[in-house]
Amino acid sequence: MPEGDTVWRAARDLDRALRDQELTRCDIRVPRYATVDFTGKTVRNVVARGKHLLIRVEDEWTIHSHLKMEGLWHVYPKGGRWRRPAFKARCVLETAAKSVVGFELGFLRVIAQQEEDDAVGYLGPDLLGPDWDSGEALRRLRADPERPIGLALLDQRNLAGIGNVYRCELCFLAGEHPLTPVGEIKNLPRMVELAHRLLETNKDRSTRVTTGNLLRDPLWVYGRTDRSCLRCGTRIIRSELGDNELEQRVLYHCPHCQPAKVTA
Ligand SMILES: [Zn+2]
Repeated sequence: MPEGDTVWRAARDLDRALRDQELTRCDIRVPRYATVDFTGKTVRNVVARGKHLLIRVEDEWTIHSHLKMEGLWHVYPKGGRWRRPAFKARCVLETAAKSVVGFELGFLRVIAQQEEDDAVGYLGPDLLGPDWDSGEALRRLRADPERPIGLALLDQRNLAGIGNVYRCELCFLAGEHPLTPVGEIKNLPRMVELAHRLLETNKDRSTRVTTGNLLRDPLWVYGRTDRSCLRCGTRIIRSELGDNELEQRVLYHCPHCQPAKVTA
């Protein structure tokens, strides 16, 4: 599923294709914006903010999108064959040399650039942003000490960029049960630093790795229901937490490496 590293990579690729280029075609396939046409206008740049992607057109407009579950952006040479069916396209932008197509975007809208802060200003420090601030992320996480760490890490208001894969992997790497309250985490600063390091390490590659073993077992627990823990051999448990969309609810953990805290 798309996490901060996926969106960071998409923004980098789109920026390379569109920055300072004049659009020769602009087709936004969302009824509300069907009449928006930026043909003839120049794209300033493309940036990621957490899991949000902002395409800035001139100094006036921003195409704001979020991949949600299935979304993705592709860059093709102009006239190149799309690798997804056309009916799934939500946004098509072309320059003299490239076609940029957003497929199945869970969220797409056009806003005035001055509204960007309202749109994404609520996000916590961006793990892959130029202004990453671990102290601020910690402050936000600690503001709700009762909250299970498994929910707090996914809340983009605390820190931006973690999706379900990293949430599960971080809890494993920290030896913490996902239901452990934030206030009882043994070493929260280390967990936040680890989040930063994992996303930084993975941002340039298409397969996410937390174990260091890209080929055999790239992840410690995510998606490994009923398989053996790579560290201790115990069966990995799949459970659910919270009331998000299903994909976001699903948790994986090792009951031996991440024991639940026993409350008296
Ligand atoms: Zn284990």
